[in-house]
Amino acid sequence: MTFSKKLIEWYEKHKRPLPWRNSSDPYIIWLSEVILQQTRVKQGLPYFNAFLERFPDVASLAAASQDEVLKLWQGLGYYSRARNMHAAAQQVLDEFQGEFPRKYDDLIKLKGVGDYTAAAIASICNDESVAVVDGNVFRVLSRLFGIKEPINSSKGAKKFRAKAKEMLPKENTGTHNQAVMEFGALHCLPKNPHCSSCPFAHECHAFQNDLQQDLPVKIKKNKVKTVYMNYLVFIDKNGKTLIQQRKENAIWKGLFDFPLIESTESIRQSTVEGHEKFINIIRKQPYSLYLYNAQPTKHLLTHKKLFAHFWIIEIDEIPQSVQGTYYKTDKYGIAQYAFPVLLSNFIDKFFFFT
Ligand code: SF4
Repeated sequence: MTFSKKLIEWYEKHKRPLPWRNSSDPYIIWLSEVILQQTRVKQGLPYFNAFLERFPDVASLAAASQDEVLKLWQGLGYYSRARNMHAAAQQVLDEFQGEFPRKYDDLIKLKGVGDYTAAAIASICNDESVAVVDGNVFRVLSRLFGIKEPINSSKGAKKFRAKAKEMLPKENTGTHNQAVMEFGALHCLPKNPHCSSCPFAHECHAFQNDLQQDLPVKIKKNKVKTVYMNYLVFIDKNGKTLIQQRKENAIWKGLFDFPLIESTESIRQSTVEGHEKFINIIRKQPYSLYLYNAQPTKHLLTHKKLFAHFWIIEIDEIPQSVQGTYYKTDKYGIAQYAFPVLLSNFIDKFFFFT
């Protein structure tokens, strides 16, 4: 039995009885697809029913005011979907003489309709040979066939698309597409797939190699955070300065730096002067403070973008009381401590004029 036949057999037995399942009306399928994007079936179902009751065809939806459409959509989130849906309905009236398109090439022209939705409608309503590829399909194909290319890489996307197309039967493409998605949603689950009762267990690469939790592969994209590092460089009349060893489980653990105020944006002199770290060191002594580098020094890490400002604070004498938290050293002693390159560059310039 072919993959598709087996899959459709499973689908006919297990599919959820959803109201749009037996329809091949492109308006109804489109409505269900738009509402179910980024929404669970349970949450979307009452909205689908309400929309279909109030707008039984595309002409009634196009004739409604945007306010009414948004009101009916209320609570579903991602409101651009509702606005696009309304605009697409008007587009159908203007550009397709009120007849909802069924072909992929026409559907893809509608506002808010992307490759996935166009493929779903064209295959279900027109039996077109176009494969749908969504998160469920990625998971099923990657596990069944051991595809290890990341699903969020362009190479991976291409490979999955090609595989999904290869698996399409000659006819009944709509049922096949719905079956893969339903199989991913109900059976080949992300965390605990039902492998022991799976019709593909004998041929499934992931099951045979115990790789269910490793597939599909997704590249973790680190969110790059911007951090301003405001270093307090104290200098007293004996040429002494203060440094500290980094202890937190963060970057540069064990290396040395200057007393530091971290912030998410550039800060002013008054913020430095009002900060408790500054106040605790200065202890009401007279001082003079200036910013060494008006343009912050940029330093890139894999997950952080650092902007360093060096605030130079000249004082009479660094108080003894800060010892314990900080180390007191001078320009000759400082050379024996390990600093991140961002700071050793500054030290070379500031203390040694190199
Ligand atoms: S055997 Fe398990 S991992 Fe493989 S397709 Fe079936 S449910 Fe998914």
